[in-house]
This record gives sequence, structure tokens and C-alpha cells, in this order.
Amino acid sequence: MDLTLSPQEEAFRDELRGWLDEHHPGAEPEGDEAGFEFRRSWQKTLHQAGWAGVSWPKEYGGRGASLIEQAIYNEEVTRAKAPAAVNVLGLAMGGPTVIAHGSEEQRKRYLEPILSAEEIWCQGFSEPESGSDLASLKTKAERHGDEWVVTGQKVWTTLAHHAKWCMLVARTDPDAPKHQGLTYFLMDMDQDAVQVRPLAQITGEAEFNELFLEEARIPHANIVGGEGNGWPVAITTLMHERATLAFGLQIQVKIALGELMEKARSTTVNGGSAAEDEIIRDRLAQLYIESEVLRLNAYRGLTHTMKHGVPGPEGSLGKWQWADVNQALTELALDIAGPQALLRSDDWTYRFLRARANSIEGGTTEILKNIVAERVLGLPRLR
Ligand SMILES: Cc1cc2nc3c(=O)[nH]c(=O)nc-3n(C[C@H](O)[C@H](O)[C@H](O)COP(=O)(O)OP(=O)(O)OC[C@H]3O[C@@H](n4cnc5c(N)ncnc54)[C@H](O)[C@@H]3O)c2cc1C
Repeated sequence: MDLTLSPQEEAFRDELRGWLDEHHPGAEPEGDEAGFEFRRSWQKTLHQAGWAGVSWPKEYGGRGASLIEQAIYNEEVTRAKAPAAVNVLGLAMGGPTVIAHGSEEQRKRYLEPILSAEEIWCQGFSEPESGSDLASLKTKAERHGDEWVVTGQKVWTTLAHHAKWCMLVARTDPDAPKHQGLTYFLMDMDQDAVQVRPLAQITGEAEFNELFLEEARIPHANIVGGEGNGWPVAITTLMHERATLAFGLQIQVKIALGELMEKARSTTVNGGSAAEDEIIRDRLAQLYIESEVLRLNAYRGLTHTMKHGVPGPEGSLGKWQWADVNQALTELALDIAGPQALLRSDDWTYRFLRARANSIEGGTTEILKNIVAERVLGLPRLR
């Protein structure tokens, strides 16, 4: 693809850059609650200025930005080290799914409060025995008049403790083949039948939860994409997850690599700077090469989306590579830090611990490799 920006795209980038310079809210405060409220307030500021949901159609409160502009947006907010918008799952996945598969009534009801961060969204897909093989999920929903009654358990539900709405996939027809008996619901989290229990992570944070559903109620009108059609709707949500992330992530890696080089220069190893150590230099150079590959593959994915209208399976390659590079990068940071890395207060120690989840969240690396093998390279299927 042509990587040169058109005058219109340059103007878009410059306007955003100027706005970010002027409105950057500074560093995020410490603590889960304080951080959450800080990011909610930042998203409100973005929304008021028309910078939330930039690629959403204008009629639904977005900016109607092109795919290239969306990519520029992700690059610029990451480059500016702006805080992440709080309603990340609603903006990147829930909203685009409602736009693609929802009714006009649903679009009018749900989209605006996602943009303004009035209503936070979470994603209730994974279950204790259904992660990679999502279509085997067991949470069941039975129709009682105009309502569905839902019983089951979800797990790893990011942001459930703050969420008003859950994108919930449940089994509505136990007799249908496993991919066809599923339905995609929007479940109101604000009911006693939905119990949210936080799960502590290796970082000490609890960004995700277990969800226990004991006859939770969902109005029939809250089905997205039709009864029994939950699988293709869920795939739309997952495709958006991988495609939207790619651009921000590759810049994030570049920024982190720059910081790591700085750390190598300022850390003393064997009487000299770590940046002069041959093995460390080698590993830094390798990471630089891989970060470039990541960038070019992000553009390759964008080209596919521009040609075909939807993200392709190549998105899986970027997510897999990013997990590898980010983990290698944080491991090198700890090797450079030496015993200092044992201090929990070191930011790189936090990053190292958080990076462990990169090869699991949003699809494990093994599953992504299967997708690339079968759907990008056309290799025979194992099963
Ligand atoms: C930080 C984080 C946030 C998350 N947020 C959410 C969320 O908000 N909502 C949500 O629904 N889920 C969320 N998840 C869950 C995530 O999607 C699952 O953890 C992931 O899909 C893997 O499922 P699993 O944990 O059940 O592992 P399993 O599927 O049980 O896999 C176990 C191991 O077996 C391997 N494996 C499985 N099948 C195959 C195969 N066919 N071929 C080769 N290897 C295989 C896997 O790669 C893995 O190494 C989150 C996870 C993390 C880490």
C-alpha cells in the first residue's frame, strides 16, 4: 500500500496532534478507582471534542473517519501517551458490533452512552471450560414470554465490576450444532441475579472477574443479530478486537523500545553502560527489527480491510507477533535491571508481569498460529 498521507489525512493528523498537545490530562493517578475515574473523565473530554469513536458513522455520534484516519488516530494517541479511553470494550468491540448487526432502535439506545462513557461495557464470552473453543460454551438462555432467563458462569470478564452492559453469548438451542445454537444478548449487569467476583492478577490488580448468572433476565429485544445467529455476531466482535488494536500496539512497542534503549544507556553493567554490552545490543537490534515487521504487518492488515471491507485473518499475525515482541522486550528490561527488577515499585517489573497475559488475552498465541496456518497459508487442518 501507499504509505504517504494525502493532504486531507495530514490535516486530520495535525488537528489531532494539536488537540492532544492542548488537552493531555497528564499522568494517571495511582489506584484502581482513581485511575478508572480519571480515564472516564478523559473519555468525556474526547467525546465532547468529537474524538471518541472516530470511525463510527456521524449519525451515531462518530466522526465518520476513514480506516486510514482511524489508524492515524490510534498512532497519534499512543504517541502522545494519552490515557486509554475507559470504555475500551464498548468503543472497540460493542459499538461496532451494534452498528454492524443491531437494529436501528438498538443503535439509538446504546451507542451514545458508549461514546460518553455513561455506560461501561464488558464482554461475557469465555467460560471456565470454554475459552479457545468458545462455541462449546454452556451458559444457557431459555425463553419465557418476552424475556430470556440465563443461567451459567463466565470468567475473565474485564471491567465487569464497572459495567452496565455485557455482550453475552449464551446457548439458546441445545439441540442445534454447537455453532448454530448460540445467541448474542446485551445483558443489563444491574440485577441481583448477576454476581460479579473480582479475580486478582499477578500484577496485584483485578481488572477482570468471574460472573455468576442465576436466572438473570434479558428482554427479547436485547438480542443482537437474531436468535440462533450469535456465532457470526461474536466473530464480528472478535475481529474488531484484533483489528482495532494493531495500530496502537505497534506504536506502543516502538515507544517502549525507545524507553528501553534509554534504560540500557543509563544502567551500568560490568563497569560500562548496558547499551555497550554486545549481547544486550544484539537483543535490542533484534527487537528493533521485529517492531518494524509489526508496523508493516499492521499496514498489511489495513490494506486487507480497505480492499475487502472487513478485517482479515492476518490480524491474528499482528496480535501473535505483538505478544512475542512485548514479552521479549519486558524480559530484556528485567535482565538489564538485574536485582533491581525484584522491586515491585519498578515500572518495568509491572510491565513484565502484565505482559504475561499478552499471549492469552484476545486469543492465545497457539490459536492464532492455527488461524494463520489454516486461513492465511492454506495449510491442511489438523482436525
Ligand atoms: C487479561 C485478560 C483479559 C481477558 N478478558 C476477557 C473478557 O473481557 N471477556 C472474555 O470473554 N474473555 C476474556 N479473557 C479470556 C481469554 O479470551 C481466554 O483466556 C482465552 O481465549 C483462552 O482461553 P482459556 O483461558 O480458557 O484457555 P484454553 O482454551 O483452556 O487453553 C489452554 C491452553 O491450550 C491451548 N490450546 C487450546 N486449544 C488449542 C488448539 N486447538 N490448538 C493448540 N493449542 C490449543 C491454548 O493455547 C492454551 O495454551 C481474557 C483473558 C486475559 C488473560
